[in-house]
Amino acid sequence: MEFKFLQSLLTDGSTLQTPLIIAGPCSAESRDQVLSTAKELRAAGVSIFRAGVWKPRTRPGCFEGIGEAALPWLQEAKRLTGMAIATEVANATHLQLAAKAGVDILWIGARTVANPFTVQEIADAWNELPDELKNNISFLIKNPVNADLELWIGAFERLYKAGIRRLGAVHRGFSSYGATAYRNPPEWRIPIEFHRRHPEIPLICDPSHISGRRENVAKIARQSMNLNFDGLMIEVHNNPECALSDAEQQITPAQLIDLIHTLSKPVNCGSSDTELQNLRNEIDILDDKLIEILAKRMEVSRAIGSLKKLNGIPVIQNERYKKLVTDRAELASDAGLNPAFIKKILSVIHEESVKLQLDPQ
Ligand code: PEP
Ligand code: MN
Repeated sequence: MEFKFLQSLLTDGSTLQTPLIIAGPCSAESRDQVLSTAKELRAAGVSIFRAGVWKPRTRPGCFEGIGEAALPWLQEAKRLTGMAIATEVANATHLQLAAKAGVDILWIGARTVANPFTVQEIADAWNELPDELKNNISFLIKNPVNADLELWIGAFERLYKAGIRRLGAVHRGFSSYGATAYRNPPEWRIPIEFHRRHPEIPLICDPSHISGRRENVAKIARQSMNLNFDGLMIEVHNNPECALSDAEQQITPAQLIDLIHTLSKPVNCGSSDTELQNLRNEIDILDDKLIEILAKRMEVSRAIGSLKKLNGIPVIQNERYKKLVTDRAELASDAGLNPAFIKKILSVIHEESVKLQLDPQ
């Protein structure tokens, strides 16, 4: 597949930032909020303004976006600041309304990408647009909520077959069951494989939906830059605590400026520094993974504790523990690890599990 790069859509001829930054609130909430955030972002050097107009929410009763009535606010932001504007479309009607309103970038959200019928409906609706609207629109396709690379690539194929060439990918993490360190764990191997298979598609990271908490947005953004992503889509709100959707993960325009500075710092001078930095990034990612796995293990352990209590089974079963340690030590040795090291780790984990099962809270 051959794509035109997203960069071509910068409307005002401004020089491209490296990386490409798309920023703006999760949802357009009011004219004031849209315009004031857009102006601050423009002053910060951002060239693409995002704001959700139709919001797919997991549970009914949450703020589902202003809808069509918010489109004139986005148009005004574009007129006043010169920024390109981006919003989410989840069906043919959204696409037609957004296209008519002059929205430059339409993104297909994670929930929609998981449904091939809807992706096809959007691709077909694009085909029905008049040429002058068609040619000005770019699409971003977020990864589906589930960790399915083929489904993600399939969405690109559907749009490509319909004739759409201005395409980019957004990695926003994958949903998972149970407690994890992130709202949508990044599972970096999936976007890495995506890039390996389609290096021609610009790949943008959305650290906001991955982390789910503003404290972690910068860290994930830096990790993605170190993995050579082309850009970032970051949720920015002028008053994040009061945001009507995704309040916990949005940052202020000032925080975005700080974040951008940490990205553009010259990190390394020599090639050994670069190598060291890359290896450290890999370690950071693996440590995150370890923590996630440990959290999941403890959760299961707690569930076992409740079951034992219910059935009057004692917390400690020496035979089971001994077998577990022997089996794992063998596995570790096969994997080239020192069995004594694994025994030590298992003993600490076991101690913590027992503590949890005795006092599950
Ligand atoms: C969003 O960008 O606000 C959004 C709803 O994203 P996602 O589809 O990744 O959940
Ligand atoms: Mn959001």
